[in-house]
Amino acid sequence: MKIIDKIYINGAFVTPHGKATFDLISPVNQELLGKVTLGDETDTKQAIAAAKAAFKTFSQTTREERIGYLEKMYAAIEKRKDEMIAMMVKEYGGTLQFANGSFSYTLSSISSNIAVLKDFNFEQRLGSATVLLEPVGVVGIITPWNASNSFIANKLSTAIAAGCTAVIKPSEMSAMQTQLMMEALHEAGLPAGVFNIVNGLGAVVGAELTRNQDIAKISFTGSTAVGKSIARDGADTVKRITLELGGKSPNIIMEDANLQEAIPLSVAAAFMNNGQACIAATRLLVPAAKMEEVKTLLRTAVANVKVGDPADPATQVGPMISKKQFERVQGYIQLGIAEGATLLVGGPGQPAGLEEGNFVQPTVFVDVNNNMRIAREEIFGPVLSVIPYNTLEEAIEIANDTTYGLAAYVQGTDMAKAKKVAARLEAGRVAINGFKHDPMAPFGGFKQSGLGREFGVYGLEAYLESKTILS
Ligand code: NAD
Repeated sequence: MKIIDKIYINGAFVTPHGKATFDLISPVNQELLGKVTLGDETDTKQAIAAAKAAFKTFSQTTREERIGYLEKMYAAIEKRKDEMIAMMVKEYGGTLQFANGSFSYTLSSISSNIAVLKDFNFEQRLGSATVLLEPVGVVGIITPWNASNSFIANKLSTAIAAGCTAVIKPSEMSAMQTQLMMEALHEAGLPAGVFNIVNGLGAVVGAELTRNQDIAKISFTGSTAVGKSIARDGADTVKRITLELGGKSPNIIMEDANLQEAIPLSVAAAFMNNGQACIAATRLLVPAAKMEEVKTLLRTAVANVKVGDPADPATQVGPMISKKQFERVQGYIQLGIAEGATLLVGGPGQPAGLEEGNFVQPTVFVDVNNNMRIAREEIFGPVLSVIPYNTLEEAIEIANDTTYGLAAYVQGTDMAKAKKVAARLEAGRVAINGFKHDPMAPFGGFKQSGLGREFGVYGLEAYLESKTILS
């Protein structure tokens, strides 16, 4: 069993003041994998003080120095590749396939921040003014459990690119993955205090970061409910905030889509990361006239999805992170039935032979109406809602009829038409014909899916404050 009893403050592994512990339970078989000691407000304040002291000098570093630190960070993380991937599989139940992809995003977010930093203009001339772009200050980084180290790497590397220092509060459920990241970052040799990591609960460590006046900005990824409370808690100190929140992403199958390709792709986009992805394509919008053909293809595509041990390279859907998440997803499957949707595949209960873990049967509901809760709320599990439409106008209307707006998907062979549809969707990222990611392009949500953008130049600007000098 792994005991994690240190946090990281001011360049050193230290014993937290907090004494409570949290059990890390295997999502595959409920084995007790480890225990993490949770930091408290005292630990958080110490970490903030270290980051504040370090900011004085780190904010004055040159671009070249910061590029050097980012290169060291990249190299130190890359060295731990196999361990980090294996730990994501073990602790979280991410499939080997997904963990590999997630690790490559971890690295590409750092390299793209290096690329942005190389060209970024920190001193701009606008009208008669000189505009200086300066690091905003100490940043509080709060991350979820569904690709923990990727979020930490992206947010911290952007903070470093900007000249900010940081206190990181990862999900307590990712403590073993965090430990590997802590060790890698320590080895990278960043100056003391530039990054600090406090394991702990959201209501304790997260809330202290959000309320503390020495934190200038919060960069948060997580649920919309917690994002809203962060916005409220941060208001007293007028914090800058970036929120990356939940989603209920539409996936429009156009009349001219090649269904043989589009349907398996759509299933993969719905069930990515075991369905625990903010950008999962969870609402499939299908021309009513094609519904019978789509149902047949969906049955085959879902039957081909391999559910099981996430460490098996062939597995496409692993378990839910926790029993609580498993119960939540089961609740939504029951709700879909109660709301009158028709089960096409899957349903309540567990796949045969996988009863020990938090495994859910990949589930597809048809005859879904966009007003049903299974079409409106983020389920965060492998549950797909299929909604018929009669005209493209209606499809766009249904797609946009949501409080979310993180991602959207369009499948079709006429690219010009698909792009026109993409332009009308209320979402921060629209992918045409499959899942796509570019770390130089901004990422973030419309509506209640978030505030601000991450990645690329937009991401860096969110860690900077502009100062206008008129002379
Ligand atoms: P969560 O909101 O429960 O927790 C996220 C983090 O916030 C955790 O570290 C948690 O401890 C902390 N937290 C909880 N309460 C807090 C408080 N009052 N103050 C400060 N911090 C607090 O989310 P989760 O269950 O860990 O992750 C799943 C959610 O994250 C889903 O809704 C998903 O859509 C979202 N998500 C969004 C993105 C994106 O980029 N938009 C990416 C991944 C996940």
